[in-house]
Amino acid sequence: MSKAKLATLADALAWATPQLQHSDSAKLDAEVLLLHLLDKPRSYLFTWPEAALDETQQAAYAELVERRAQGEPVAYLTGTREFWSLPLAVSPQVLIPRPDTEALVEAALGLGLADDARVVDLGTGSGAIALALAYENPNWQVSAVDASAGALEVAKANAERLGLERVQCLLGSWFEPLPQKPCFDLVVSNPPYIDGDDPHLSQGDVRFEPDSALVAKQQGYRDLFDIAEQARQYLKPGGILMMEHGFEQAPTTCNYLRELGYQDVDFGRDLAGQPRFSFGVWPGN
Ligand code: GLN
Repeated sequence: MSKAKLATLADALAWATPQLQHSDSAKLDAEVLLLHLLDKPRSYLFTWPEAALDETQQAAYAELVERRAQGEPVAYLTGTREFWSLPLAVSPQVLIPRPDTEALVEAALGLGLADDARVVDLGTGSGAIALALAYENPNWQVSAVDASAGALEVAKANAERLGLERVQCLLGSWFEPLPQKPCFDLVVSNPPYIDGDDPHLSQGDVRFEPDSALVAKQQGYRDLFDIAEQARQYLKPGGILMMEHGFEQAPTTCNYLRELGYQDVDFGRDLAGQPRFSFGVWPGN
């Protein structure tokens, strides 16, 4: 690569964009990576496109673009992703929060839970769901559980960065680290739900995400089913279980919830209008 190609912001973007054509957002990716490197706001690109890049910046940008061209997700390259308008740190230890999951957050916020509701997010990853709920409800007692110590570190760091240290981050599998009593008003989760043979897993950004956050046994249902079974011991009478799943998994998930005795079972849709999460009310033991 000759230096002249990357001499200015405009040159660097013109050089990078064609290399990222495999991405459906090549131009945006090129811009986001450049702004991340320079630690500048978006407006910088428009106000000063002729700004020069020094040699170190040129080399660092070339490396970021190369890694993106090889498929690494932009969020892992920049170490951050916005969720529910909250800037979250992410690493390859956690699933990159998806806008689809904001639909679940919105639904949970609309449940009309008590001001001091007790809530747990199982398999919290970056902490996205737990932190969004805690951010919106200063009096909710929110716990965030993950079986991956690496993921929990990310969630904890995000809680601190956002001034949400009151969110309790606990290491363990699903309900394992929680008190064994029916004390929760709401159990939320975005568990792994993709079948191990799904071709989706070998395409795009998901190739770089942890399998433990994506793949579940039994055609993707194992963890959804386990959580639904176990939640019956932890939900208060009238407490609600809400779980994200694949867009074709609503009927099976809803049927299973009914079989287990949940009431008022239904599903909600994501921003694309696809069924994305199911929920039910636990009547009590
Ligand atoms: N919705 C994500 C995807 O399709 C998967 C998230 C998950 O498995 N919990 O890539």
